[in-house]
Amino acid sequence: MVEVVGCCHENHVPTRVLGGGSNLVVQDEGIKGVVLHLADPAFSKITVDGMRVTAGAGASLSRLISHSVKAGLAGLDALVGIPGTVGGALHGNAGGKSGDIGQHVASVQVVTIAGEGFVRQEDELAFAYRSSSLNELIILEARFELHHEDPDEITRRMRKLWIMKKATQPLTFQSAGCIFKNPRGMSAGWLIDQAGLKGTRIGNAEFSDRHANFIVTHPGASSHEVFKLIDLARSKVSEQFGVDLELEIQIW
Ligand SMILES: Cc1cc2nc3c(=O)[nH]c(=O)nc-3n(C[C@H](O)[C@H](O)[C@H](O)COP(=O)(O)OP(=O)(O)OC[C@H]3O[C@@H](n4cnc5c(N)ncnc54)[C@H](O)[C@@H]3O)c2cc1C
Repeated sequence: MVEVVGCCHENHVPTRVLGGGSNLVVQDEGIKGVVLHLADPAFSKITVDGMRVTAGAGASLSRLISHSVKAGLAGLDALVGIPGTVGGALHGNAGGKSGDIGQHVASVQVVTIAGEGFVRQEDELAFAYRSSSLNELIILEARFELHHEDPDEITRRMRKLWIMKKATQPLTFQSAGCIFKNPRGMSAGWLIDQAGLKGTRIGNAEFSDRHANFIVTHPGASSHEVFKLIDLARSKVSEQFGVDLELEIQIW
């Protein structure tokens, strides 16, 4: 991976990393440059050592959670139901009301855009609402510090969270999760709903009637239809509430 990144850098080829693709919209025109994907099993290993769990960034977040819970380790269970990879979750500090991934990170192995690998320790990292200071090109691996708890108790808690998610999110449709970040003290979904946009459809993309901060897409949807809905929500919410919505999803 270091060699590939170094080669792209030397040749001035733009390079990006794709995780599970669950938080981004790729423009219909496509992407110029190289897209790296940590698909090899070597990037998805998970090991448990006492209360420490080490996971490759290519591992799915759900696999990391189930390995931890089986070992009787709590913390990451708060992330149940969040699709994507460990790398993607760290990049955007995935989480919700019950906690986020950044709270449990002990160290992260990264590769810079110039192809240099190094480890960042907990005290060199900062995590905030849907963002992290992990701005190197690639997150390769992370170590998490968890705590012991009865696996049955953790499973009960996860089941509750999962039921709530299923009731409030349009999980049977294709989406990229929440489109906008929640403005301080407010819910982006509530603002979009109050602006009268819940269920609004442009082409094959629409604001979910279950959760207005999700744009769900139907077969044949284009990125431009999604962008038109994004612009519509931004202008209506700004007009009615004077609030500027900030994107949570990445646009490529
Ligand atoms: C139904 C649904 C529900 C969701 N619920 C939640 C939720 O409750 N909470 C929440 O926080 N999110 C939620 N999301 C959003 C999404 O699942 C998370 O943001 C997830 O962590 C993204 O991971 P990914 O691997 O899919 O990243 P991608 O979408 O592939 O990438 C996102 C960003 O991370 C970067 N990235 C990915 N892997 C790496 C890597 N190895 N190294 C460096 N950068 C990398 C990419 O370059 C990109 O900038 C939801 C999405 C869906 C579809």
